[in-house]
Formats: sequence, C-alpha cells, structure tokens
Amino acid sequence: MDLKAFLTSTHYFSDLSDSELNTLIEASTVEECRPGQKIVSRGQPGRFLFVLITGKAEVNFTDTLGAKLFSATLKSGDVFGEMSIMTGEPEAADVVAVEPSQYIAAPRDMFSQVIVGNPAALHKIAALITKRMTQKEQNEALLAQYKSSRQDNPDPYDLNFSSALKPAKILVINCGSSSLKYSLFDTSNPTPLIEGLIEKIGTNASYHKVKSQKSEIKNETAVPDFPKAFLEMETALTDSTIGAIAAFDEIDAVGHRVVHGGDKFKNSAVITDEVIEGIRQCIPLAPLHNPYNLAGVEEMRKHLPGKGAVAVFDTAFHQNMPESAYLYAISRDLGQIYHVSENIRRYGFHGTNHNYVSLTAATYLKRSVRELRIISCHLGNGASICAIDHGTSVDTSMGMTPLEGLAMGTRCGDIDPGALIYLLNSGLSVKEVDNLLNKESGLKGLTGLSNDMREILDAADSGNDRAKTAVSLFCYRLKKYIAAYAAVLGGIDALVFTAGIGENSAAIRGRVCHGLENIGLVISKEANEKAKVKRGHIEEISAAGSQIKILVVAADEERMIARETLHALNIAKVREAAAPEVKAKRQIPVYITGHHVHLCEKDFATLFGEGKTLTKKHQLRQQLSFVAEETLTLSGPLGKIENVRVVAPLKTETQVEISRTEEFKLGIDAPVRVSGDLEGSASITLEGPAGSVKLESGVICARRHIHMTPADALSYGIRDHDIVSVAVLGRKDVVFSDVFVRVNPNYTLELHLDTDEANSAAISDAATARILEIQSRAFI
Ligand code: AMP
Repeated sequence: MDLKAFLTSTHYFSDLSDSELNTLIEASTVEECRPGQKIVSRGQPGRFLFVLITGKAEVNFTDTLGAKLFSATLKSGDVFGEMSIMTGEPEAADVVAVEPSQYIAAPRDMFSQVIVGNPAALHKIAALITKRMTQKEQNEALLAQYKSSRQDNPDPYDLNFSSALKPAKILVINCGSSSLKYSLFDTSNPTPLIEGLIEKIGTNASYHKVKSQKSEIKNETAVPDFPKAFLEMETALTDSTIGAIAAFDEIDAVGHRVVHGGDKFKNSAVITDEVIEGIRQCIPLAPLHNPYNLAGVEEMRKHLPGKGAVAVFDTAFHQNMPESAYLYAISRDLGQIYHVSENIRRYGFHGTNHNYVSLTAATYLKRSVRELRIISCHLGNGASICAIDHGTSVDTSMGMTPLEGLAMGTRCGDIDPGALIYLLNSGLSVKEVDNLLNKESGLKGLTGLSNDMREILDAADSGNDRAKTAVSLFCYRLKKYIAAYAAVLGGIDALVFTAGIGENSAAIRGRVCHGLENIGLVISKEANEKAKVKRGHIEEISAAGSQIKILVVAADEERMIARETLHALNIAKVREAAAPEVKAKRQIPVYITGHHVHLCEKDFATLFGEGKTLTKKHQLRQQLSFVAEETLTLSGPLGKIENVRVVAPLKTETQVEISRTEEFKLGIDAPVRVSGDLEGSASITLEGPAGSVKLESGVICARRHIHMTPADALSYGIRDHDIVSVAVLGRKDVVFSDVFVRVNPNYTLELHLDTDEANSAAISDAATARILEIQSRAFI
C-alpha cells in the first residue's frame, strides 16, 4: 500500500508536505481487521488518531443495555479518535469494522508534531471536531454517553500508565540524608520491576535491600557515600540474577521525590538548570531534605545524561490552598520588620500520596474526582490529613514544616507556640527544642515506649495507661480534623485511610470513625476488621447505609511519581513542538468579569414574572451571551449587593459568580470553581422584582479560565480542561498560574479574570495575554 499516495488523496491530509507525510507515516502503524472486530472500545484512552484506508466501519453509541442510540458509518479516508485527543476523555463509542478493513493508527502526538504545523490540515481537523462537538451538545443521549465513558475506563487517571504509547522504563528515586530508595517501573507491567533501599549510608552499619520480581536479598555492604550508593543501585538494577534490565541506559526517564518546592513549584517540573536552582532556593525551608533530594538529582544527571528527569514535590498538590488556609496569623511584613524570610506560611506535605489516593478513590467510585469532596488521612510515621474539594487540596494539617497538625510517631503536631517560648526561656537551646518536638514527642513522647503504633496498641491492650492515652489523643485529634474539614468542604463524599497505620490498623480506624455517625460516616465493623489492602487495591469499609464512603487505599507515592514523570515529560514534548511561533504570535484578549448571575428558566420566572424574557443591554464576546437589562439583588446573611446583572442565555442551573471582596460583604464562603461545577457551593437568596429565590447552593468564585475554540486549542497544542499559566502583557508582565482551559466551538478566544485579581494587578479590559505553558492535564 502506498500510504503517502493514499493520505494525499484524503480530505484531511491532502495539504501535508512530503516531509510532514513522512513523519506521520514513520510514526504510525497500519492494522487490518475482520468484520465484527472492534477497532476502538468505548472507555479506552484516546491514544491514536485513526484513518480508515479500506473497508467500512461503524461508530456505535449504545446505552447501558446495549441498545443503539446513534451510529455513523466510516469509509475510506475518514478520521476517528480525534475527540478523545481533544478532550483527554476516553473514547465514547465503539468503532467496529463491518467489512474487512485496513486502517492507520497515528500516535496522538502527531497532532502537535505534524498537524499543528500545517494550518490547512489543522483547519480541516478543527472543523471536524467542531462538527462532532456540536452534534454531541445537541443530543442529550449522546452527551450522556460521552459523560459516562469514563466509567468504562478502568484507569481514567492513568495510575496504571495506560496512556503510554509504547512501554517505558521509569526509575523513581527518593534520596534522604542517609538513604537511597529506588523503584523501577515498566509502564507495561502492573508492579514495579524492582525496588531497593540502601540505608545508613556513611556509617558502618550500611545495608542494601533489593526486591525484584525474581527474588529478594539483603546485603550488608559498605556504602560510604552517595556516589557509591548510586553505583550499588546501578549494579543491582543490571545484575543478571536479581536485576530487571541489561544496561542502565534502558531506563527512559527518572522521577525524583523532592520534599519542598516552596511556592515556586505548583506542579511537577522537568529538571533543567533553572529547576535545580529553584530546588536549591527552597533548601532553607527543608534543610534536612532538599539538599539530599538535590544530590540525587545531580548524581542521576551524571549516570543518565540526556534522559528526561522530573522533580515531583511533596508540597505541589497543596499550592492552590486559599490564603485563609495557608497564612499564619502573624505579621505579613516580617521581612521589613524583623529581617527574616517571608516564607513563613503553610505549604503542606504528603501531597503526592494525598493526590494519589483521591484519584484512586474516584476511580473506585466510578466518579470524576472533579465532582467529589474527599478527606484523605495519611497516617504513617509522619501523619497528615487533607481536604480535597473537587480535585484541589483546599487545606491540610501539616504547615510550613511537617511538624504541624496530627500527633505523629515522634513529632508533636499542633502545639501552642507559647510553649516553645516557655521552653526557650527555661534554658533549652534551639537545638534541644528542635530535637524535643521532632524526635522525642508524639506517640514516643507520650508513651515513653515507642513511636510504633503496633507496640503502643499492644501496650494499651495490656493495660498501659500512657499507651491508652496516646491512642486516645491520636484518634481524638484526627477526629477533630475530620469534622473541621467536613465543615471546610461543606460535606464529604469519601473518607480515605492510607499509609502504615491507616492501612493496617482496624482499631485506629474504628476509634476515629466512632461518634462521627452524625456527619454521615458509618463504618462497617466486619468490613473494617477484614480489610487488608495490598498496593493497587482498595477496600470499602463503610456500612451499607453510610452517606459517606469510607475507603482504605494503600499508599503508593512511587507509582504517582512515575506517573507524574511520564506526564510532565509528555507535556513538555507538546510544549516544545507546538509552542514557539504560536506562543509568540497569538494574543488573548482579557475580559474582567464582575459579579453576574446565570438563571435557570424556573428561577427567572419566579424573580421577574411568568412570560418575561431577557432584554439585551450589550453583547458579550462569547457567542449567544449578552448582559441583560434585568438586575437583581443578592442577599447574604451579612449584607446585600444590589443591581447585579443577569447574563443570557438562560441555563439549566442557576449560578451566581462573585468576587472574594463581595463574599465578605455578603458574609458567605464561596468555593473557587469552574462554571457549572456547583455541588456543595455556597447558598444565597436572590431578590427580583416579582419574587425571591433561596438557593441552597450555586454561588461560586469563578476560577480563572480561558475560552477557546477547537481550532485555537489545536494550534496551542492544548486540550479541553488543561491547566495553563499565562502572562498578561503590560509594562511589566503579570503571570497567572492555574488557569483552566475550556474548549467549545461556540467560544471566542478570551481570558476571564475576576475583578479583584484584575484590580490588584492593575489590569484593564484592554489588556491581552499569552499562554506561557501547560501546567498540568488531568488525562494524558
Ligand atoms: P509508614 O510511615 O507509612 O510506613 O507507617 C508506619 C507506621 O504504621 C508505624 O507507626 C507503624 O507502627 C504503623 N503500622 C504498621 N502496621 C500497623 C498495624 N498493623 N497496626 C497499627 N499500626 C501499624
């Protein structure tokens, strides 16, 4: 088959140059299939753009009972698979051959590498996506099929690397002050190929433990320093009896755990000189961790030069916490007044695992993490709890350092800072106080016995009073945080227990949940006692009628680091391929959104009277949207805001968008959300000329976002729901991160900023912005 001649004869690829065709063909495969054979299965991740060469295939949208809702026939030259590539969501329909057929499967990065560079081809594919998106929006049954396709995907968050186009080997490194922990993942294998731990580096007692799919060994070897530890690891990985690879450079990428990313790193970062410098600047925040994490990064650069490496930060997941959660109530002018670092704020830790368990819980519950409120309890030797609102950490118990919050193995957790002043005034040195709070407190300090919960539970069972008190204190504090975070989230859908104690101790889980029935948490005694989690597994321990699911999930930071590594490198590839000319050329108009209300038909009729319609005041850039003459009053518990404009068209649900300042005036707490994501949002009363409506929920602070068409998205190399950072251009550019991308054929390219943000950065409606980078994408 002359593929080049074939592609040139098709509508979509006829504009590609000779070299673009060569690139596309080289990366693609040609497959054959029999009549009745599935080419695409609903729920599978969208990894390829398909082109039918010969034969005929049918796209079948079926309901849950298998009845056909919609079908379309594909013939030679037709393209399919493009919607998943645009949205990142799994395939929504089965594609089945109806005749013996031949098709091309082009890996999805061909979009950024070939099609984006060719305006004519891009235009044609964008037109196709536009047509299919419109079709989907207009057919409710079809829309429901798209929305539910994720339920048919066993790995919607790619925790098992199902997005990988070809198998890749990823080495995960966790380098501590005297230890090196490593795991080698193969994306085509469900369990790590090999895991190793070198402990007590630099002492006479150093040893090396290795566990692979072949065997398990422990050697007491002299490991005087880090360079020797890395050589040890390399030898083990390539050893013919226990190792998993023949040569070290079979490793495709390296992921490093880095404890502290300060407020610099909101996501995992591909390692460059600049990133290394950033990690170095965070050393004062984590002097016992970052220097060693960095040593690991630098050592691996020597061992595997030229291979992609990624830093994954314990703090990154918490970087979108609101100010009220991350600030301490101390002077905000510390630097000016006391000449000390102004980095004194809460950062939070264990973020990689909190994120991992929330995605695992969402997968298990077959729901999107973006519609769930989850509390994750990471109870290991170090312990922290995290409130996760629709995928974002909004509060966590560890603070500037991992000392705050829950009582831990040897750390005190929450303590009155006045106690430290007292200790220092009593003659203890700073070093002694440090040692006391970090090493001699928590379970160990309370019991005088051990930091190990197993020993303490045993001692408590044998009547040791101090052990009983320690267990009670541990559970009491955790319970207090759970209820506090339930208040923060306005309710919970799932409570997750993870890490050593969380996974293994039914007694602790039982004690913590006891008495929380009033907030909807009912544990099943039998399920709790029976629960045994292995890595990659999940146990449900809530009673049948419990409003809130209680889950036990085995911690797996290493897997999450491998996944982050894969994703960060993929995103960087997209950025490199698509970026230069697009980024420089295209500027995005900025629109500053003041407060406004979208109404549903019913509420509109109640507020303005039956039979009334909206009157246009002025058109908005987004098609079909206009600001109406009609206004209403927002009435909160503490105040009112009058003359709030209604924005057309009418929607299926009423939604009120206000700024932080206005929340304060009204006396309500609205979550930062994407438009349409209203579950658990704030309540308010709307007062109109004809009546009033009390909303139980519906008030949000709109998350910064960009509207764009499929053509815009393709040309930026961006997908629907990506998170990007942007620079608003001016005499001095202002950078905004965490900007949510929304793709729809009806949109007009525009960045929406909230009035408060625009005011504080002195940005006007006449400003323009440019996309700097893709920070993260939910589905790869
Ligand atoms: P991690 O830091 O995640 O390895 O967790 C270590 C903590 O888990 C230690 O306090 C252990 O005592 C605790 N742990 C492990 N297994 C059990 C168990 N069966 N019951 C109670 N605590 C446990």
